[in-house]
Amino acid sequence: MSLLRNGLIAITGTTGVGKSQLAIEIARAINGEVINADALQVYHGYPIITNKVTDAEMLGVPHHLLGTVGPSTEYTVQDFERDALLKINEIHQRDRVPVLVGGTNYYIQSAMFRTALVSSISRDSEEPQGEVEREFETSMAAKTNQQLWEELKAADPPMAEKWHVNNRRKVLRSLEILHTTGKKHSVWVEESEMARKSADTLRFPTLLFWLYADTPVLNTRLDNRVDDMIKRGMFGELQELHRDMQNPDTLAPLGDDFTKGLTQAIGFREFKPYLDAQTSDDSEKLKAQGIENMKRATRRYAKRQITWIRNKLLPESNATLQKPTKAHAYVLDATDLKSWDANVKQKGIDIARLFMKSAELPDPKTLSGTAEKLLAEVKDKPNSILQWKRHRCDVCSKSKDESRSGEPYEVWLNGDDEYTQHMRSRQHKKNLKYKKRLAEAGDIQRKRIKTAGTDQESDH
Ligand SMILES: [Zn+2]
Repeated sequence: MSLLRNGLIAITGTTGVGKSQLAIEIARAINGEVINADALQVYHGYPIITNKVTDAEMLGVPHHLLGTVGPSTEYTVQDFERDALLKINEIHQRDRVPVLVGGTNYYIQSAMFRTALVSSISRDSEEPQGEVEREFETSMAAKTNQQLWEELKAADPPMAEKWHVNNRRKVLRSLEILHTTGKKHSVWVEESEMARKSADTLRFPTLLFWLYADTPVLNTRLDNRVDDMIKRGMFGELQELHRDMQNPDTLAPLGDDFTKGLTQAIGFREFKPYLDAQTSDDSEKLKAQGIENMKRATRRYAKRQITWIRNKLLPESNATLQKPTKAHAYVLDATDLKSWDANVKQKGIDIARLFMKSAELPDPKTLSGTAEKLLAEVKDKPNSILQWKRHRCDVCSKSKDESRSGEPYEVWLNGDDEYTQHMRSRQHKKNLKYKKRLAEAGDIQRKRIKTAGTDQESDH
């Protein structure tokens, strides 16, 4: 059996599930070095709000890209991609094993995959606009959303079907691609998907671990972690960050829209009202509110991470099993912390050793009941944007008679993901409840309930 010289081990999962610990345990067992793939932990300082492992916890395992960037630097995913690949290469040259660990999806993705070949995760909303796009947008400024959409509908019907009339940004983007390249956006997508299908998308043979804990158990753990962070001095760090954010020599140039660098840390946005109002009378109330909001934001973040792993990362990984360079994905169940050593640590180490020896690997579904359940729900390849359908939500859409304004009111969702998301949204659930009540109350009561439910249409 030959030893794998260019393998990559990647560990992902939600915040607070124990990824850093598992990375250290696996690295120790297989002569590995850890590369951090968490967008906040790359920054120097603020160890509590960024949940960094301590030197003692590292147990001598080298860690890379952890706390190496100055807080005032704007570190992009392109920076990460370049640095991570450099580190992976160096570690391979030392005949050691790179263990990539983190919960920032676009970091994991950019290190594992040749990003140009992976279009399943659209980053175009985050990318700054180029000169050409801006010019095109300006030239179209006089046109209404409806006019633009009609234009796209005439030129590239399949693409027009994907976008809501009022999604001006997406409609403009599709028109702009046609305008600047002379090629329809739908054709462009189809061609890149064809290329992706046959191309070797992975950079390295990869062993991917999804460290998972059941949501109710994880949520309790996350709540407790917030309380623990407070005890360890989180407010001191938040105050420091708050001060630095107002200092033009340190962090102020990053702006205060919570989208760059450390300002994205969960907690900072949530405690901003408290930090702004330190001396006022309702300080304690704002603090309590901040704690509640931080807990809620943490749980929401964990939920988004799971959605990404299940809907994007694993399908993209599964698709590689038909290609020369493969990613083998495993779920490790960290729900019961008392059996961590048996369920997580030992299983992770055993599989990592087999992987590094290029030996035959176990069927991922046989690892645990949780693994079987989660992996059964995962698609064997990413959804194609060309298969997206527009869905009308019959619950939230209203006829002329039902609508408060007297105008018919349509709720359309673009693509399956958006539809699934919508079905889980508060607004949809509220409308669903309202419709049920309406049906139960019958015609006589209808008018009264309709008056009570007038705030139903506000969101779309
Ligand atoms: Zn709905």
